[in-house]
Amino acid sequence: MEQNKSYKSGFVTLIGRPNVGKSTLMNHLIGQKIAITSNKPQTTRNRIQTVLTTEEGQIVFLDTPGIHKAKNKLGDYMVNVAERTLNEVDVICWLVEPTTFIGAGERHIIEQLQKTNTPVILVINKLDTVKKEELLPCIDVYRKEYDFAEIVPVSALKSVNTEELIKCILKYLPYGDPFYDEDTITDQPMRQIVAEMIREKALRCLDEEIPHGVAVTIESMKEKGNVCHIEATIICEKESHKGIIIGKGGQMLKKIGSQARPEIEDMLEMQVNLQLWVKVKKDWRDSDILMKNFGYNPKDAKQ
Ligand code: GDP
Ligand code: MG
Repeated sequence: MEQNKSYKSGFVTLIGRPNVGKSTLMNHLIGQKIAITSNKPQTTRNRIQTVLTTEEGQIVFLDTPGIHKAKNKLGDYMVNVAERTLNEVDVICWLVEPTTFIGAGERHIIEQLQKTNTPVILVINKLDTVKKEELLPCIDVYRKEYDFAEIVPVSALKSVNTEELIKCILKYLPYGDPFYDEDTITDQPMRQIVAEMIREKALRCLDEEIPHGVAVTIESMKEKGNVCHIEATIICEKESHKGIIIGKGGQMLKKIGSQARPEIEDMLEMQVNLQLWVKVKKDWRDSDILMKNFGYNPKDAKQ
């Protein structure tokens, strides 16, 4: 198969402890639309899978499942820092505070990073809160701890150096076509909120039955008259998971849909016709498979 050598596309995960600025950075990277379009920013903001498209490439920021798991004494950010996710993405962005202090949480993340070969970009956030001369020691401390692909200081809040971060990420992405078309990207923030609402309901309904959680993509979202027709796919890793998600006679899928729909209707302020599909995506690293699974095939699985 011929490879597109002029465009890049790939997957990135953003990790870091609470309050380090992950949401701020994401909101900045995709514009402020999320906060404006969602009535419930608190329930969606932190867990959005966001697509960032530039002329050079498309970056898909994947959620970190670990963040949803139970908290432990080190906080909620490092439970499994989703070891799997770390191996499945093309780039890991680790957001840290601009300090020289490396605590237990940071040590844990470093341990996780040592288990993976995925390039890691250390993003030192809140650059606006420190003086230049305070930054260098911080870079030094971290550099000694791990062999980062890049170290990029930014201020998510003040939008300092974030363009540079995007360039850095693109450097490590494989060549390939974008996963989402332009239409999808235009609607992305709204679609992502809808996807996240479905995902949240799915996770809640499934309780801990699906170990690595699920992803949700919106295949289409069309308004006809007063009704918004939405087709969404719940993506899981195994056939057995697919069975659980569909449930006996489609009961589970129905339950997820009926819980998500009113919330989506609330947000869109219109009636929603929601159709849910389930697909299995076995290997996230194989972009061919990934493409196929992101694609829309109505015959594959149905409610
Ligand atoms: P998250 O828990 O990692 O998602 O962190 P948030 O994005 O919610 O940010 C936590 C707090 O840090 C908020 O009050 C942000 O306004 C603040 N914050 C985020 N990025 C920056 C930054 O670059 N500079 C400063 N000064 N504050 C920031
Ligand atoms: Mg957050």
